[in-house]
Amino acid sequence: MKKTLNCHLLQSTPTETDIVPATDRFIEVKTLVDESHIIRRILKCKECEQLYLYEFYEEIDWAEGNDPQYRTFVPVETVEKAEIMNKIYKPGFITALPRLQFDFLQNGTKTIAWFR
Ligand SMILES: [Zn+2]
Repeated sequence: MKKTLNCHLLQSTPTETDIVPATDRFIEVKTLVDESHIIRRILKCKECEQLYLYEFYEEIDWAEGNDPQYRTFVPVETVEKAEIMNKIYKPGFITALPRLQFDFLQNGTKTIAWFR
């Protein structure tokens, strides 16, 4: 049976404090990738136990330490599904739908948006 995705994060566009720092809002289920500028984890929402494949990716441009940061949250039904997606998508480039994208660009612009 297909599990319904019903996390509060799915119902609207979250604010920054709803999702960052991830450790405040989510329980870490499993770390898939942990390298200096890329982290991939399976997270569980503390409120509703919805699972997410989470990726943090920092682009290195060697300029003054304000490198662009990208965070992606993809709701997933199971840990197994997250692990499959981890193999399909190359680091720094998860394009699965739906996904919540939190981008912190070099010019200081922050955008949070769902892609569905
Ligand atoms: Zn939730």
